[in-house]
Amino acid sequence: MKNIFWIIEITSCKLCSEEEIFVKFSFPKIELHLHLDGSLVLEDTWEMALQQGLVKKEDGFESFRRRMQVPQTCRNLADYLKCFQLADAVLQTPEALERASRSLLLQLSREGIIYAEVRFAPQLHCEKGMTQEQAVQAVLRGVKRAERETQIKAGVLLCAMVTTGKPDVDQQNERTFRLAAEYRKEGVAGVDLAGAETARPMEDFRTLFQLASALSLPFTIHAGEAGGPENVRTAVNFG
Ligand SMILES: [Zn+2]
Repeated sequence: MKNIFWIIEITSCKLCSEEEIFVKFSFPKIELHLHLDGSLVLEDTWEMALQQGLVKKEDGFESFRRRMQVPQTCRNLADYLKCFQLADAVLQTPEALERASRSLLLQLSREGIIYAEVRFAPQLHCEKGMTQEQAVQAVLRGVKRAERETQIKAGVLLCAMVTTGKPDVDQQNERTFRLAAEYRKEGVAGVDLAGAETARPMEDFRTLFQLASALSLPFTIHAGEAGGPENVRTAVNFG
């Protein structure tokens, strides 16, 4: 299990909200689990969505916010993941990815985060012709800019996807892991498996994580969020 990061997450706190934990306490903090497309600075993303014609100004910012934020009534992972659709639609150019990653880290720095790991799935950003490699380079550029402008340090995790609805997901996942190895010295901290956990058996990904081990890539795996303890056992055994 040497390659698995053990992560303790604050999932609930009776004394204060998550926002209060991260904003009000001024001590230096470390954030190890952030999805770029799930943590976008809303005002920035609104501007980009308008520029790209993905939303109409007359529909208003509040309507945009509702499409981007998971409602309290959300009952399952599949519904939760639907909230990523507009975010990923905005992030289909190198410029948008660079701007989004920089903005996120500037925001984190303002919240007192001194080290962050930001994860994203490059293959989800190739709908308009960008390659996975261009997506990785764009995010790394945004990260480096934020590191130069603030005190924050950051690593990027490249996510493989359980499913994308496309037949070549396994080839794209392998490409993601090979890119992670290529860009390990440029700011990629490791790899991950994310997405609709119950769409496929965890065992389908054994070969992929054997590749991660062969490439000496540290990895995390989303397991047990929707798939139960057996998925956690299988994922841990990949390490
Ligand atoms: Zn996650």
